[in-house]
Amino acid sequence: MKYVKTIIKTLAILIFAGLLVTVPLLMRGHSSTYHSPTIFTMDTTLDITIEGRGKNSKNDAEACFEVARRIESKTSRFKKESDVSKINKLAGISPVKVSDDTFQIINRSFELSKLTDGAFDITIAPVMKIWGFYGKKYKIPETSEIKEALELVGWKKVKIDSASRTVMLTKKGMEIDLGGIAKGYALDELCRTLRKRGVRSALVNFGGSIGVVGKRPDGKDWVIGIRNPRGQGADILGEVRVKNCFISTSGDYERFFTKNNKRYFHIFDPSTGFNPENTISATVIGSSGTTTDAFSTALVVMGAENGIPFMDGMKNYSCLVVDSNGKVLKSKNMKEYVIGLKGRID
Ligand code: ADP
Ligand code: MG
Repeated sequence: MKYVKTIIKTLAILIFAGLLVTVPLLMRGHSSTYHSPTIFTMDTTLDITIEGRGKNSKNDAEACFEVARRIESKTSRFKKESDVSKINKLAGISPVKVSDDTFQIINRSFELSKLTDGAFDITIAPVMKIWGFYGKKYKIPETSEIKEALELVGWKKVKIDSASRTVMLTKKGMEIDLGGIAKGYALDELCRTLRKRGVRSALVNFGGSIGVVGKRPDGKDWVIGIRNPRGQGADILGEVRVKNCFISTSGDYERFFTKNNKRYFHIFDPSTGFNPENTISATVIGSSGTTTDAFSTALVVMGAENGIPFMDGMKNYSCLVVDSNGKVLKSKNMKEYVIGLKGRID
């Protein structure tokens, strides 16, 4: 009897000790944080933080990298074999059959052109070109060059056919550039890939545009800093608390050159062929990566005066705009997300 008692006691101690070891291990398994390496794709950097997936994390990140590279290979202007290169090469000549990725991006981009009254327009490429944004040979073009380029701009001059999945630029010299939207589409696809693989908590950082899967492992919202467009490094405008959404920022500080103290940057107003003048940066939070990416570019063109009422009318989207006077303005439902937001920048 005494033996039995001792055995039971010993077993109990062992089980308890076992629990002490296994519970923290199990918990660690759940709260493990994996930081992927940073890769360079779609002309920018991509890295992913994955929570609670233990040894699977590395494969989850690899699967995402593959998706990003697939989208890059179809949408890059600089890869000869991409759909975009083929479409541009055959401008004014013939329609081009494209991949599902490319078709979806182009189709959505035209819906967004319509919605933004032409502020967002992927046919902006001839304007980007004359200002030297392809190949970094920056220059201020002649008025006549701008006029000529504008003849080739306009989403209505593109013919798309969903049955045959073809795209045709109707005028010779027309070109498209998916730089304002493809990264957002890729973010949608990356977050979808993660969810499909069973990831419930992750943060995808694609060159400053962010996709958030779920909440943080402690059940709280993710906290994302919004960069001060005139600050250095970690200087932020404020923070947003978010879950299951996308955040995109566009501005005049990403790619630019200066001449005679004036800043010229990589977003153009399709109606003038010049940079928009009223906005320093625009941040959009919303439920689709494709749409937030395009909206943030469009808002720079629209400016706060038109852009904020526009965003107030969009369900599931909110924005934050820094105008050219450094004033920080926000759409109505942005209040739900922001913490410690500056009213203006210096
Ligand atoms: P980034 O890619 O630097 O994060 P954006 O998402 O704002 O910033 O994209 C800027 C890119 O969008 C430009 O490099 C150009 O390719 C393209 N672009 C410029 N102006 C427009 C416009 N009005 N509509 C659609 N795309 C544009
Ligand atoms: Mg964009």
